[in-house]
Amino acid sequence: IESWSPRPWFARLSFPPALLLSEPDVPRARQDSTEPAVMKSAKAKTVRKPVIKKGSQTNLKDPVGVYCRVRPLSFPDQECCVEVINSITLQLHTPEGYRLNRNGDYKETQYSFKRVFGTHTTQKELFDVVANPLVDDLIHGKNGLLFTYGVTGSGKTYTMTGSPGSGGLLPRCLNMIFNSIGSFQAKRYVFKSNDRNSMEIQCEVDALLERQKREALPIPKTPSSKRQADPEFADMINVQEFCKAEEVDEDSVYGVFVSYIEIYNNYIYDLLEEVQFDPIKPKLPQSKTLREDKNHNMYVAGCTEVEVKSTEEAFEVFWRGQKKRRIANTHLNRESSRSHSVFSIKLVQAPLDADGDNVLQEKEQITISQLSLVDLAGSERTNRTKAERNRLREAGNINQSLMTLRTCMEVLRENQTYGTNKMVPYRDSKLTHLFKNYFDGEGKVRMIVCVNPKAEDYEESLVIDVYLSYIQFGFSRENNYLDVAFCKLYRFIQG
Ligand code: ADP
Ligand code: MG
Repeated sequence: IESWSPRPWFARLSFPPALLLSEPDVPRARQDSTEPAVMKSAKAKTVRKPVIKKGSQTNLKDPVGVYCRVRPLSFPDQECCVEVINSITLQLHTPEGYRLNRNGDYKETQYSFKRVFGTHTTQKELFDVVANPLVDDLIHGKNGLLFTYGVTGSGKTYTMTGSPGSGGLLPRCLNMIFNSIGSFQAKRYVFKSNDRNSMEIQCEVDALLERQKREALPIPKTPSSKRQADPEFADMINVQEFCKAEEVDEDSVYGVFVSYIEIYNNYIYDLLEEVQFDPIKPKLPQSKTLREDKNHNMYVAGCTEVEVKSTEEAFEVFWRGQKKRRIANTHLNRESSRSHSVFSIKLVQAPLDADGDNVLQEKEQITISQLSLVDLAGSERTNRTKAERNRLREAGNINQSLMTLRTCMEVLRENQTYGTNKMVPYRDSKLTHLFKNYFDGEGKVRMIVCVNPKAEDYEESLVIDVYLSYIQFGFSRENNYLDVAFCKLYRFIQG
């Protein structure tokens, strides 16, 4: 086994890196006139523009959107390798000591995204552009999927969850949901999730009885939406700006259910499951399986879904899951940066009866939509010299699932942009299999690539950018062989 080298992986290739680093259609900062002809021909290829056939516009879906957020440097005197050129373009500067081509020249590369958010971007600005439309969709019965992607320390969790005083996308989504459905919420237990990924409706009397019954039980106690937020996270969910969806159907009632899972080493764990964790004799957590419901949606069988009535309550549930995740990871000696976490918000809506007093007791009239917020595992490669033997397999699986995600996103984008119908290999990992329907083209998919501009991250950032340029510029079939080569190399380097 080859030992780890600090040189970028593509510098060790026997053929010109530009073959792999095919460029987006933005001019490069520096053209190298001494490059061999083969590279020129690769570069000369323009990205295929979507061919829109007459009358087929409606079939073309809103393609997957990839955004980039650059976090501030931790220390102002750190060397920086990333520059935001404009609202869609990012430039990578080669740090000292990295020479990329045979002439020893530095390579300056530009990449484009749907939008690049610079270091001064506030949580609110990001939310307004990326997540607000997803919540709006959710309220109108459509599904959405949002990922944060990047190496450890690049700001994935900051972006998704936030930090004290600076709530991220998750609390902001919750806030917008509850602001929008505020007075149209169903009473607790009117909607009941069943074990087949659908919902039942109880009449108000039965719901009331269930509320009373549960209040009589000591544990778990009936959650209360009125309770004050836990001071631990109170200033994370205290979103100042009021945000609300337009045109909320006022003739319906709404219910919100949340679930929270972790995917580690391609196993799924329910973070909300009510089992006591015994630190002295820890029981291994039971993994869950994926199942397909009668509408061909995938779901985690037996996964806890908690009905929540306010942002405070929903975030409390999330926080509980987070704590559990931390404790379990510590005791089982896992690295939390190597797991994916998925927080899903399910919105149930059912029309009111003709009088507008009660929920129509017809199961068929229920609309269910879901927004999944995914904080992905760190996209860094495993450092072989450091990785312990028993961790190698884990690392392999995690990278494999990110790899599968990458491939799925590419094919999805191609299908959506060109109206093609290529098979998306979502079955290759639990993470992507869970989101099968998105890869079949239903619902919006958004990804925020988090970048730490520090020079030490150059290599990893570049790898990410290569990855994303593939998604962004929807590789045509002619270029597919490059992709295959890239995958092989990537796997080889990953081990
Ligand atoms: P990741 O989840 O990708 O490993 P984190 O979100 O935990 O990274 O970020 C690492 C550190 O950097 C945290 O202390 C976080 O608060 C800080 N940070 C990340 N992004 C930003 C940002 N945009 N603005 C300010 N601080 C940030
Ligand atoms: Mg994190």
